[in-house]
Amino acid sequence: MTRFVLQGGEVYDGSRAAPAVADVAVEDGVIVDVGVGLDGDEGVDCAGKAVLPGFFDCHVHLTMSTNDVAEAARQPFSLQFYEAAANMRRTLAAGVTTARDAGGADHGMHVAQQRGLIAGPALQVSLNVVTQTGGHWDPWLPSTCVLDFTPPHPGRPRAVVDGPEQVRHKVRELVRAGAGVIKVATSGGVMSAGPGAGTPQFRDDEIEMLVAEASAAGLGVMAHASAAGAKTAVRHGVRSIEHGQDLDDETLELMVQRGTWLVPTLAAGAGLARSVEAGAGYPAHVLDKLAETEASRASTMRRAIQAGVRFAAGSDAPLWPHGDNLTEIELLVEYGLPPVQALHAATGSAADLLGVGDRVGSLLPGKQADLVIARGKALDVTGLSSRVEAVYQAGRQVLPAGAGAGVPG
Ligand SMILES: [Zn+2]
Repeated sequence: MTRFVLQGGEVYDGSRAAPAVADVAVEDGVIVDVGVGLDGDEGVDCAGKAVLPGFFDCHVHLTMSTNDVAEAARQPFSLQFYEAAANMRRTLAAGVTTARDAGGADHGMHVAQQRGLIAGPALQVSLNVVTQTGGHWDPWLPSTCVLDFTPPHPGRPRAVVDGPEQVRHKVRELVRAGAGVIKVATSGGVMSAGPGAGTPQFRDDEIEMLVAEASAAGLGVMAHASAAGAKTAVRHGVRSIEHGQDLDDETLELMVQRGTWLVPTLAAGAGLARSVEAGAGYPAHVLDKLAETEASRASTMRRAIQAGVRFAAGSDAPLWPHGDNLTEIELLVEYGLPPVQALHAATGSAADLLGVGDRVGSLLPGKQADLVIARGKALDVTGLSSRVEAVYQAGRQVLPAGAGAGVPG
């Protein structure tokens, strides 16, 4: 059993506490000690570098590689899974050792990662997005064409349902297919053909049923939700609000009371704006909805931070490119979150959201050795993506490739 020590780095432990210089000892894939003057069989000099817990991205779509639905529709069905393997490798190389897939990835991808067949972050997957007829994730277009980002297959059941009984059946079907979290859309969205983020979707009895069935199976619910749709979702006990445009003070207060996380996916807005600038041909209704949400984002973020809502980091890749996930941390700071809280949103807080905080997300003795070494200071999150130098997953060095056990495949 080899014991190695990361020596003299500035250690950020995944909490809201300021980083401090220390050594980190790892044995058998587990952090066994954090302190000064530790020794081991092998030492890694981390002077002038930051040592952080492996990061979380709580909102990715690993089977999607483009924002262009028409382009996606022309691709062979199974190509998405081969692309997903590449996206998983990129995400891990960015320093993300755990990710929650918000629609697309299936249970097989989770198992393949666990068995070491595919290098990537450990996954919690929603498979598909439970949506009402004509709702955010209903792929039916007014032309009657169906353009589906997550075309159904046995491991990824179609999830367009109406009424509590259909909702109950669908949640059970998703659980049977291996979902690790249930995702629902309780509001419209920017990218879909239907109405925008201001429109609530599903009624109280449907959302209540969805949350009850998910909890009966031991799963949390993530809600693609904004404005009024978010308020209803929070009232019925979803675990996180995704995107969260236009949240009023009452909703934010309720989130604080109930401990609901906000995953603002700021990178998604930035990514969409960037592709519009680059001349991507989005339909007029997408551009209009994008302008609306941009206007409200800064106000929602400012009030959410002030209210003390808990945050978790999610990039919504591929809306922001896979492998550049840590940009979300920079954006959280840009929108007013103090750096230590932005790091917490991508580590300890995110681990608690996913219900895995007892094993990962913090750099403490007894935790799995998912670690990132980055050049520079821990709290200086500017350009963090480009400063990641080494990534360890369960004590194995997976970046740079070829070092230690290396990245398989
Ligand atoms: Zn998404």
